[in-house]
Amino acid sequence: MSKYIATRAIRGANALVTEADVMLNKAIAEKGADTPVSFPNTAYFLPTILGMTGKSIEKIGDLKSVMEYTRGLLHPVPAGRHWTPYLGETLDSGMATLLAAETIEALRFVYGLQPEPMPESFTLAGGTNYGGANGHGHLNGPIDDIQLRSWGIQLVDGRMPGFAAIVGCAKSNAVAVKIVRELQRRNILTFLSGNVNGRSIIHQLQEEGVELGYNTFTVPFGTDTISAIYALGFATRSALTFGGMKPGMSREILLYNKERVFAFVLALGEVDDLKYAAAAGAINFGFPVIADTVIPEILPTGVTTYEHVVSMPFDAIDGKDDLEKAERLVQKCIEIRGVKVKVSNVDVPVSYGSAFEGEVVRKTDLRVEFGGKHSRAYEFLHMAKLDEVTDGKIEVIGPDFSQIPAQGSMDLGIVIKVAGRQMQQDFEPVLERQVHYFVNGASGIQHVGQRDIAWIRISNAAADKGFSLESFGKILHARFHEDFGAIVDKVQVTIITEPTLHTEWLEKARAAYDFRNKRLADLTDDKVDEFYSCTLCQSFAPNHVCVVSPERLGLCGAYNWLDCKASFSINPTGPNQPIKLGKLVDFKKGYWQGTNEYAAMGSHGVVQEVSMYSIMENPMTACGCFECIVMLIPEANGVMIVSREDTAMTPAGMTFSTLAGIAGGGLQTPGVMGVGKFYLISPKFISSDGGFKRIVWMSSVLKTSMADEFKAVCTREGDPEFMDKIADDSSATTVEDLLAWLEAHNHPAMAMEPMF
Ligand code: SF4
Ligand code: ZN
Repeated sequence: MSKYIATRAIRGANALVTEADVMLNKAIAEKGADTPVSFPNTAYFLPTILGMTGKSIEKIGDLKSVMEYTRGLLHPVPAGRHWTPYLGETLDSGMATLLAAETIEALRFVYGLQPEPMPESFTLAGGTNYGGANGHGHLNGPIDDIQLRSWGIQLVDGRMPGFAAIVGCAKSNAVAVKIVRELQRRNILTFLSGNVNGRSIIHQLQEEGVELGYNTFTVPFGTDTISAIYALGFATRSALTFGGMKPGMSREILLYNKERVFAFVLALGEVDDLKYAAAAGAINFGFPVIADTVIPEILPTGVTTYEHVVSMPFDAIDGKDDLEKAERLVQKCIEIRGVKVKVSNVDVPVSYGSAFEGEVVRKTDLRVEFGGKHSRAYEFLHMAKLDEVTDGKIEVIGPDFSQIPAQGSMDLGIVIKVAGRQMQQDFEPVLERQVHYFVNGASGIQHVGQRDIAWIRISNAAADKGFSLESFGKILHARFHEDFGAIVDKVQVTIITEPTLHTEWLEKARAAYDFRNKRLADLTDDKVDEFYSCTLCQSFAPNHVCVVSPERLGLCGAYNWLDCKASFSINPTGPNQPIKLGKLVDFKKGYWQGTNEYAAMGSHGVVQEVSMYSIMENPMTACGCFECIVMLIPEANGVMIVSREDTAMTPAGMTFSTLAGIAGGGLQTPGVMGVGKFYLISPKFISSDGGFKRIVWMSSVLKTSMADEFKAVCTREGDPEFMDKIADDSSATTVEDLLAWLEAHNHPAMAMEPMF
């Protein structure tokens, strides 16, 4: 153990704890001990404090006991020359630093100093909404629960291998950009904080016009070191949300992170006492710290099997220029932490990776668009016999976009022909839907929609680098092989802009879409002999299983029955296994011998039975990825549906994020269920409890975004005007308002038989 590091970490921790103490006393004097204190949009109070100490902090006064505990972790700065430091002292100091840092940030929220303001010109590509329009005017601050959960699934399925917490300032702006691009390319979530002599990597990236925000996986926390606490708050909540840990299980939470969360800290520039102390905090989580300056190292001991602190002086890195050095630096970080990274080998002239999926191409950056208001774009994937497909053949039929004026539009058809011994016609829509993700992975390309309402934009930057129509084909060919190699042996792509052929294929595509719609409508739970399991989320929620049937998709909305069927063909030992239904036990409530047996086994005995169609009796469990929450409102004899996008108050007296804490965790809670949006329009939606007509309240976002689908359901249910009887956040946010609304609109639930 390095004496140098121990001394500086202990000193840094003592100073920060004193600062937190002073701030807390000041806040109690000025604001009063009863003043509420919280981070926005989270059900986890102050998450690091909650996880490590089990204390749910709600008022300024509550922080007193936290600071007492924190002071107990401090050690005196050693004076003696003969002092031999041990790792424990350093780790304690690190933990004290984290608790003090979170206390300070929370108090700053009380004073309106968090999240940190940012320069006028700067906007986030998606971010926590602090009352401004989508994060404008502020750096991000802590990550909210909605975002945590939506990243959850990507963390589970490996699309997102881990996170990097970058603290400080890079050697130059170009190096800063390169580091972030290298991380983005590998889909590693990047958290930014800290500064060196007032300059932060956040300033550097901002000056270079790098898009920061949730959508680009690059989140600016704050320009001081202590804002890095938000990274550890995120790590703590991952363990609580997905790992089923309880507040106060500090040891388990730290171990979970060490074993499951692939994260590291990259310290850029000079390391001061506070940074040493914060680094010691990260080491508690098993996250190694890599510095680009000369510092002593901490080699493997009991906490980790890899180095805790690694020094990689930037100028000494082997590389022909700074950019190559930056690339090597990132490489080294990944090696040290053992982050599992999957990089696609896609031969296109722009950067490629899922981190670019959320990128937006604005009108001012637009070179050309396909689809949208002024043209028609479609994509159509169909299967053919093996000898009818020439693998790797990419044809562009018709003119390219060189003659289209800047910001103009043109018609486009993307026709993909695949063949494979394991390919089935049922998989066509499953594969076709991937076009969206595959195309979006290219930097500077935006893809929206699917089928014949696709809308694709190419930015000036991408066009300048040589991105062409053929590039679409290259992407699709590479990715279908890479991701679906088990069912697809050959892939051929035709890009059509020639008008006659465009029309001809559009008609063929539409006929196929119609056919698929009918097939889906015909595919009901009583017509199949097997459902599918999904245990993808067990790496986070160890006892949760989604039972996926034709009429009930997985609660994350990403896996329907066909997807699971395809996934099973691709990977027969994977997370989606067929569940043979066997003997029917109760069709009304949705019990089969096979589903019950599977539920008991898959949940490791936590759940004995699962009803497919009831929220009141043995409802399906939830991991945390649900698109909506369905919850009983006993007074109304019905249910409310809250969507993930909805941050407003609901009649249950809780917001989505608070409700999510109740619904998740892999336990059966009668009256509460997490579901996928499309289950709401299924004839089997809580059919055993009365179905769609039980809905008394719904988030308005959902009402608007699925208006057409809901209208069709109302007609199916024999009450075409039923949607108008459902209250929403504009008409009722309390039970009293809700009951008055239901009365006034003559809602049928009031007269239905009691739900329990
Ligand atoms: Fe997780 Fe269920 Fe979605 Fe599978 S279907 S990924 S288990 S939420
Ligand atoms: Zn999940």
